[in-house]
Amino acid sequence: MLELSTEQKSAIRVAVFSAQPHDKHFFNCVNQECFQSLHADLVFHTSPLSKETAALAGRCDAVCVFVNDCVDEDVLQLLAEQGVRGVFLRCAGFNNVDLKAAKKLGLFVARVPAYSPEAVAEFAVALILTLNRRTHRAYNRVREGNFDLSSLLGFNMHGKTVGIVGVGRIGLAAARIFKGFGCNLLAYDPYEVDEFRALGAYTTFENLLQQSDIVTLHCPLMDSTKHLISRASLMNLKRGAMLINTSRGGIIDTAAVIDALKSGQIGALGLDVYEKEAGLFFVDHSSDIIHDDVFQRLLTFPNVLVTGHQAFLTEEALTEIAETTLQNLQHFALGTACSNALVGRGAI
Ligand code: NAD
Repeated sequence: MLELSTEQKSAIRVAVFSAQPHDKHFFNCVNQECFQSLHADLVFHTSPLSKETAALAGRCDAVCVFVNDCVDEDVLQLLAEQGVRGVFLRCAGFNNVDLKAAKKLGLFVARVPAYSPEAVAEFAVALILTLNRRTHRAYNRVREGNFDLSSLLGFNMHGKTVGIVGVGRIGLAAARIFKGFGCNLLAYDPYEVDEFRALGAYTTFENLLQQSDIVTLHCPLMDSTKHLISRASLMNLKRGAMLINTSRGGIIDTAAVIDALKSGQIGALGLDVYEKEAGLFFVDHSSDIIHDDVFQRLLTFPNVLVTGHQAFLTEEALTEIAETTLQNLQHFALGTACSNALVGRGAI
């Protein structure tokens, strides 16, 4: 652990946006147990970061943000004007941060590139098994005294072909699980690694869609992957295949996917992320009218399962997220190179 000088101690005040009770719990535990020399003064705000809420970071040295916080040029400008010098993402994806603007403003930006990839991989598998064996529907039936088995027919995972799009940390963890089921593995990734070659075969994106019974997305959201699952690419999908997205909503063109569900081209869809999830997910809307008709249409299909971006939500992952974020903060405070920096000292 890095040691701070007396002046640096208590020097860091951090506004934590989109803070949920679990964030507060794990950050406070790690801050107290492991980072006593830092004494990061964490100010938790339930509101997401936006132009309207940026003022909450007044008198703070840094902000800590999550997947749906808006960290665009305007927001960064407002933060910098208030004296904020660092942006700390408590997630891996950084598609919501304007890195160019952060660099121009002299802000430090760091993320948590890896935390328990198994948490997300295991959740993707949970979506697949639930959709396949209809345990969600069976649960409701049995509670109502209905023991009818109609429409609960599934298939064996053993011998099926699973296509993994993006074989990084999470894709590889998922591949290992599927191998255990006895699945055949295909992958598409512009960057190939030997660890996957030992489990399955790389192929083109088009061939992966044509051959796979299950397609699971684990690539980051970038300009090149936005709407990777589109009307055009869905034409290559094996008819009736299952599609799973635990990565980022924007990788899928939702309108195209709805049409593919209606035509039967997609046999089942599991989503933990949704392209317009900001403002919708992480909040209890059970007494509200939800105005997103596309999202509401998705929920009407019997073969669609949507969860609210919870794949990361395990004790292990939350502990690692808090530890790495606080380590990143220490590097920022000390001015030492941070290997998790996206902008600033240590950035690659
Ligand atoms: P990673 O960086 O280890 O792996 C990403 C892989 O995608 C890399 O191997 C990369 O080469 C590949 N890739 C890049 N462009 C591609 C393309 N056009 N087609 C196919 N592959 C491509 O990242 P990771 O830790 O495995 O995480 C993957 C994604 O999962 C993150 O970017 C994040 O968006 C998402 N995620 C979601 C949750 C959740 O709770 N739902 C939690 C953590 C991460």
